Amino acid sequence: MISRKIITNIVQEAGFDIVGVVRAEHLAEEHNRFNKWMLEGNASTLDYLKRNIEKRFDASVLVEGAKSVIVCAISYLSPYSRGYAEGCRTKVASYALARDYHMTIKEMLNEVAERLKEHYPTLRFRAFTDSAPLAEKSYAVRAGLGWIGRNSLVVTPKHGSMLHLGELVINEEVDEYDTPLSGVGCGECRRCVEACPNGTILDNRTIDTRRCISCRTIERETDSGNIDLDGWIFGCDACQTVCPYNMKAPLHTNRKFDPLYDPTTLDTEAWLAMTEEEFQAMAGTTAMTRAGIARIQKNIEAE
Ligand code: SF4
Ligand code: SF4
Repeated sequence: MISRKIITNIVQEAGFDIVGVVRAEHLAEEHNRFNKWMLEGNASTLDYLKRNIEKRFDASVLVEGAKSVIVCAISYLSPYSRGYAEGCRTKVASYALARDYHMTIKEMLNEVAERLKEHYPTLRFRAFTDSAPLAEKSYAVRAGLGWIGRNSLVVTPKHGSMLHLGELVINEEVDEYDTPLSGVGCGECRRCVEACPNGTILDNRTIDTRRCISCRTIERETDSGNIDLDGWIFGCDACQTVCPYNMKAPLHTNRKFDPLYDPTTLDTEAWLAMTEEEFQAMAGTTAMTRAGIARIQKNIEAE
């Protein structure tokens, strides 16, 4: 049995902002909602969403012998998260300006697990961040980090939604589990719905990925119809920038999530003239380089 207090201390020392712990149980309600969303065709060509659905909503199926899920979150909110100047045609989602979070979060989770093992040598774990078939948003809500906002993202009371999530699925029980938050939520607010350039946000706190700029500029190049990219060349923050919880959230404090370059110094001509070598030199460790400069340039030309 692991102490929740020890988990909290270690997770905070590793640099995360928020932590919650839940049992590695089947999330039946969320599972049913996801199936319905899929049947309505909203996953479009995002095939990875269609695989391993049984594991996604049950951490004990995903990881044999799993007893608990430690859900960690860290803010990446930077001045760029507050939005770009009116008319800017080279907007980059603010998370993508920092070192690739997949690498950073994995390192931080491994550090947490190794520190926990010093106290609990029989601990076994697997670390995930946006990289495995685990319904991390659903586990984050169950763990009391926040709620699912109308834009389908996890919104937290203090740090808003500009967060990265990471999970440790462990083989041990914990002496105290968290429960979902109560008394907080979006209320009557619909700012994200109104701010989305393509009417992508559906009524049931999900999005139609076919019309989402973020999906279009990162995940795939073609779609069932043309959508307005609204000046975004990689990702899209529009439905988060306007969120009142993000507007009042503090800037990130963990330097590992500092932007590595200033995107406002680059106009479309500069991006279109950039070679792969120059792009790698500028943005080499960010998630943007997974796409490559050719893809960014295609996004600009598609505008
Ligand atoms: S990321 Fe952009 S396009 Fe996608 S739902 Fe949010 S505002 Fe709409
Ligand atoms: S903008 Fe408003 S409705 Fe959208 S997630 Fe934030 S609080 Fe919820």
